[in-house]
Amino acid sequence: MDDLRELYQQLILDHNQNPQNFRTIEHATSTVNGHNPLCGDEITLYIYVEDDVVNDVSFQGSGCAISKASASIMTTIIKGKTVREAEKIFEQFHTMITTGESSGNMGKLEVLAGVHKFPARVKCAVLSWHTLNNALLGKTELTTTE
Ligand code: ZN
Repeated sequence: MDDLRELYQQLILDHNQNPQNFRTIEHATSTVNGHNPLCGDEITLYIYVEDDVVNDVSFQGSGCAISKASASIMTTIIKGKTVREAEKIFEQFHTMITTGESSGNMGKLEVLAGVHKFPARVKCAVLSWHTLNNALLGKTELTTTE
């Protein structure tokens, strides 16, 4: 339990209480809803892509500390990246969160590497990322972790 408490503390301090880009984008090029029924996390993700660059990304929703912190950190990292770069970061993040193995250049996302030890929490952490990936691919149906 100590590991989990430590993980929560770090996440909550960094992003849960003060999430970044927690807002809507009025003229979003893609808006996708995501749902993690296992925990009850809900997210609406907005992206604004222009000339193949994710110029803006934001989210709204409610959920546990991990889902919210993960979404918050994600927006800060993805903003300004090309669609291709964003997809690559998603793949690296997905590997890290499911195996604990990091490519070493995940920056602030490293804080989430410990989540792989808690399989039920992995879905909380990946919800916003799967939702982002679908938004990048232009898939606008509900994204679910189940
Ligand atoms: Zn959750």
